[in-house]
Amino acid sequence: MSSQNDRRPLHFETLAIHAGSERDPTTGAVVPPLHLSTTYERDVDGAYSRGLIYSRLDNPNRRTFEHRVAALEGGETGLAFASGSAAANALFQALGAGAHVVAADDVYHGTRHLLNGVFAPWGLATTWLNADDPARLPELVEAALRPETALVWVESPSNPLLHIVDIAALARVTRARGVALLVDNTWATPALQRPLGLGADIVLHSASKYLGGHSDILAGVLVFAEGSALAQRTRVIQGQTGGVPSPFECWLAARSLATLPQRVRAHCEGARAVAAMLAEHPRVARVHYPGLADHPGHAVAAAQMSAPGGMLSFEVRGGAAEAFAVVAGVRIFARASSLGGVESLIEHRASIEGPGTKTPENLVRVSVGLEHPADLVADLRGALDALDALA
Ligand SMILES: *Cc1c(COP(=O)(O)O)cnc(C)c1O
Repeated sequence: MSSQNDRRPLHFETLAIHAGSERDPTTGAVVPPLHLSTTYERDVDGAYSRGLIYSRLDNPNRRTFEHRVAALEGGETGLAFASGSAAANALFQALGAGAHVVAADDVYHGTRHLLNGVFAPWGLATTWLNADDPARLPELVEAALRPETALVWVESPSNPLLHIVDIAALARVTRARGVALLVDNTWATPALQRPLGLGADIVLHSASKYLGGHSDILAGVLVFAEGSALAQRTRVIQGQTGGVPSPFECWLAARSLATLPQRVRAHCEGARAVAAMLAEHPRVARVHYPGLADHPGHAVAAAQMSAPGGMLSFEVRGGAAEAFAVVAGVRIFARASSLGGVESLIEHRASIEGPGTKTPENLVRVSVGLEHPADLVADLRGALDALDALA
């Protein structure tokens, strides 16, 4: 969106509301209409002058969502999918059999299963890098690159230890070698971190999390930097394989993006309060939150993110039993997986990730919602205090 008498770039909050949508030309509706039609009429000469043919290929609500996310990430092309996993699937298909992927071993467990369980037998090989010390990732990536490497995949902050990758440092390595760098930006969101501006080529979101923001949408999106050859190949796969969200899902997602900046600010405020309480609590052995000065990624996070985010995890003194007792002892937090919704969620993470996970057994992961921070702090403190009765 640009106005004729003022060429200053619009701020993030303004783009979140206006990018990708215009007043409906037929009715003047301020809110974009929902277009459920699967098919669009041809001109008398058979042409499609409006550019819309069939809704698997494209539809107005998907356009709005795709353009809005692309604008917020500072990218050229946005492509929406039925889930974050469907987005990853389409990108891997676009790379083609015979290509090679380099990925940090702390990426979302579903991405790990997709690469190992579905794409390894298909012919896409992955080299997994130990991400325990994210400062070493640029040199580990450099050493892992092969002539057929097409993509490097990282997540920052990562799940569930909130490792921070220096995206600009990693992009210098991948750019020099002509390999695409993807950052899964689901946890940070473009409200806090814009990887394309730091040199990454592709951003992935599970829009089921903060972009949707209300735990009621399943969707995913890829945003490509200007001139990415992979964008066109992935668009073809999006249209031909059809793993796309419905118009209503896109309508909801675009609607949710309008409040992303304000929601994320409030998520961060709550997370800071919860992290500060946890850091002082005698029953807590460690807090993983990049906003804390003793977090190993604190300096890098402060440089590349505008705030530390709404996700954190902590290790309870003891083992799995103590961690489960804390999760069982809260009243406001819902005991559920996923993240980024208005309601706070808590979970014992190792048991959802299953065998082979590196997640410590005493680790509890928290998605801080939009309830009043004081209520969340009191709830979690109460569950931790109650451990004394168990001892
Ligand atoms: C949830 C999630 C995904 C997968 O997205 P779905 O929409 O559940 O398929 C990918 N990456 C991260 C970081 C996630 O949290």
